Amino acid sequence: MSKLRFNRVLLKLSGEALAGSKKFGIDPESVSVFAREIAEVAQMGLQVALVIGGGNIFRGMAASAKGMDRAQGDYMGMLATVMNALAVQDGLEKEGVQTRVMSAIDMKEVAEPYIRRRAVRHLEKGRVVICAAGTGNPYFTTDTAAALRAAELNTEAILKATKVDGVYDKDPMEHDDATLFEQLTYIDVLSKRLKVMDSTAISLAMDNDLPICVFNLFTPGNIKRVVNGEAVGTIVQGG
Ligand code: UDP
Repeated sequence: MSKLRFNRVLLKLSGEALAGSKKFGIDPESVSVFAREIAEVAQMGLQVALVIGGGNIFRGMAASAKGMDRAQGDYMGMLATVMNALAVQDGLEKEGVQTRVMSAIDMKEVAEPYIRRRAVRHLEKGRVVICAAGTGNPYFTTDTAAALRAAELNTEAILKATKVDGVYDKDPMEHDDATLFEQLTYIDVLSKRLKVMDSTAISLAMDNDLPICVFNLFTPGNIKRVVNGEAVGTIVQGG
């Protein structure tokens, strides 16, 4: 077995990643592609906790901009993450990986309740733990849920999968001359308002000294490269 850079990581996937080219809902083919990549590193012995967003189905803030009560919309967003978690669980199981979905909102017929010590035990047994329903609280995002679970599960890093190669000085989808940062500090991200994760998530990562590796999920093999210690994307850490 090759020596991995990490033993335990928290991988954050946005809901949009699961939508494929449709940009909405769940595209089973995209789910299988990512499941295969996650399965590969899990089978190399990496302990993986996953947090999956819900933006491909529902975002509370977007709904509140159109008049819906914010907290109500946020609960709907959290339920959306559970559907994504079940889809990814299915994909991972098809790859022969043992998994557990653990939900921050109690729904015992579909998922275990999130209990930190149990989650750690699952990780130690080599099961991929899929953390669903965000933090269980409105007014948060799944990025913050990722930082929270990463801290409490003692992961060594947050792997933040995105649709671009890392963190840029401006949006690379709109500007051809956007420059990629290879390294950044948490303070750089906060003070320059760089779009990595929201500020609550960045602060939590900073306070707990959790490096954030930002990389392109759509480049095949990238998850493996990151966990093997190759320089991929951007790393955000203390100064
Ligand atoms: N959400 C929430 N609390 C949490 C996590 C998520 O209320 O702890 C809601 C919120 O409405 C959010 C939605 O769930 O917009 C989907 O999550 P997010 O937007 O973070 O998904 P992503 O952008 O990663 O797909």
